[in-house]
Amino acid sequence: MKGESAPALAFLYQSCGPALPPAPRLYFFPFPSYFYRVETADVVIIGSGIVGSSVAYHLAQAGCTNVLVVEREAHQGKGSTGKSMGGVRAQFSTPVNIKMSKYSIDFFSRFDEVVGHPADYRAHGYLFCATNEKHLAYLKANRERQISLGVTNVEWVSPEDIVKMVPQLRVDDVLGGTFCPTDGFVDPHSVMMGFMLNARERGVRLWLDTQVTGIQVDAGSAGVRGPHAGSPRGVLDPSASVGARPASKRNADETSALPASDSRISGVMTSRGLVSTRVVVNAAGPWAAEVAKMAGAELPVEPLRRQLVPTEPFDQLPKRFPMVIDMSTGFHFRREGKGILLAWNDPEETPGFKTEFDSTFVEKILTHAASRVPCLAEAGVNPRRAWAGLYEMTPDHHAIIGPSTNVKGLYFVNGFSGHGVMHSPASGRIAADLVLHGHSDLIDATQLSVERFKEGRLLEETAVL
Ligand SMILES: Cc1cc2nc3c(=O)[nH]c(=O)nc-3n(C[C@H](O)[C@H](O)[C@H](O)COP(=O)(O)OP(=O)(O)OC[C@H]3O[C@@H](n4cnc5c(N)ncnc54)[C@H](O)[C@@H]3O)c2cc1C
Repeated sequence: MKGESAPALAFLYQSCGPALPPAPRLYFFPFPSYFYRVETADVVIIGSGIVGSSVAYHLAQAGCTNVLVVEREAHQGKGSTGKSMGGVRAQFSTPVNIKMSKYSIDFFSRFDEVVGHPADYRAHGYLFCATNEKHLAYLKANRERQISLGVTNVEWVSPEDIVKMVPQLRVDDVLGGTFCPTDGFVDPHSVMMGFMLNARERGVRLWLDTQVTGIQVDAGSAGVRGPHAGSPRGVLDPSASVGARPASKRNADETSALPASDSRISGVMTSRGLVSTRVVVNAAGPWAAEVAKMAGAELPVEPLRRQLVPTEPFDQLPKRFPMVIDMSTGFHFRREGKGILLAWNDPEETPGFKTEFDSTFVEKILTHAASRVPCLAEAGVNPRRAWAGLYEMTPDHHAIIGPSTNVKGLYFVNGFSGHGVMHSPASGRIAADLVLHGHSDLIDATQLSVERFKEGRLLEETAVL
């Protein structure tokens, strides 16, 4: 069955049980000059952002605790997670996104009690405002779908209702909108730390300051050797010549030549040495395609810069109001402490690893802000407090969750296209289910498999902010 992963299932059922041998193990190679300590883990997660942390938490919850999370930065949250706006919403257009949000928002509302750490979930709502009939029809169709999938509290609002919520909004051209009171915000850093602290309390290991430099893949049936076989130089020294290594022990950039169906994960090369494992979860955020390539797999995930502008303290808007989305321009804003956080998707932005804030963006966003909320023209903005981060975009703006098609034991949890924080509870749960059982009862995960791009089964999400 597509998207299923029976070999990992069989392996993990054996290794995640109570009879799990203690890790790490020590291996002594028969060469005096080659004394290596080879770390082992049932699962290696690459990346400790909110998604990798959630996968670690959900694996540990399910009893799989021989898990190692590898993070190249000295602290968690240096990737997209630390740049996020923290918005959570169930107001999506596709069933799969609505279901993932429903599960996640319910999880956030119980996070403190379930995980034992705060998520700072604030149910302030999301308010979508439509200014033309097309957007109105779109919101109506979405609302019907959301209600049919159990998100029953999405309200239809008139311009008069909208003004009651945010009196400073210009509504002369607004035809109506939708409001969901359980949408709102979380603190992404707290959620990430909560997941990871809980996972570590259960035995999951986290290596900070450790770069994954390669993924080791066994070539397949002909001449296959176990993860600890072969000469130590062949296994551990990426600089050794290819000819000197066993044919089944090739590193990252050589694996694309391997026979697709027979490739299987056998280890991860890191700046601290080799980790022997049969299962790798790619949770590398905007860098996910690079990590996939290390195993010879292709992943259509591209980084795209997003910029946020906070205002100085501003008291002309209410102390509490929803995330407001002006559908005519895509401009949206919410309160952040004493100031207002302004966001807008610049259509001129092009893909790439650009993380510098572009000061010319301030004028563009303030034009949209002042047009919808005239009093925002008086808000002070210090461009040095503004920031940029990376969305991890896929061609259909939906996540990719599931096993690689050509490398057994490699799993993706990537490409959230701007929704990775809000979908972190669901994506961690689905990924853990797939690794441990080969399927998830939360959603039909085959919809999110990477194969959909080759098979033309794209899921277009148009409610992308
Ligand atoms: C400006 C902005 C606003 C956003 N607003 C929202 C929002 O309101 N709501 C929402 O849901 N989402 C939002 N997002 C998107 C959200 O932040 C991301 O989808 C989410 O944080 C992705 O989490 P992650 O754990 O997959 O990636 P990351 O947080 O980027 O974590 C990946 C980690 O992998 C590590 N890594 C990469 N390569 C390697 C390697 N070779 N070896 C070791 N470690 C490696 C990185 O150092 C990084 O820490 C926003 C994003 C941005 C940029």
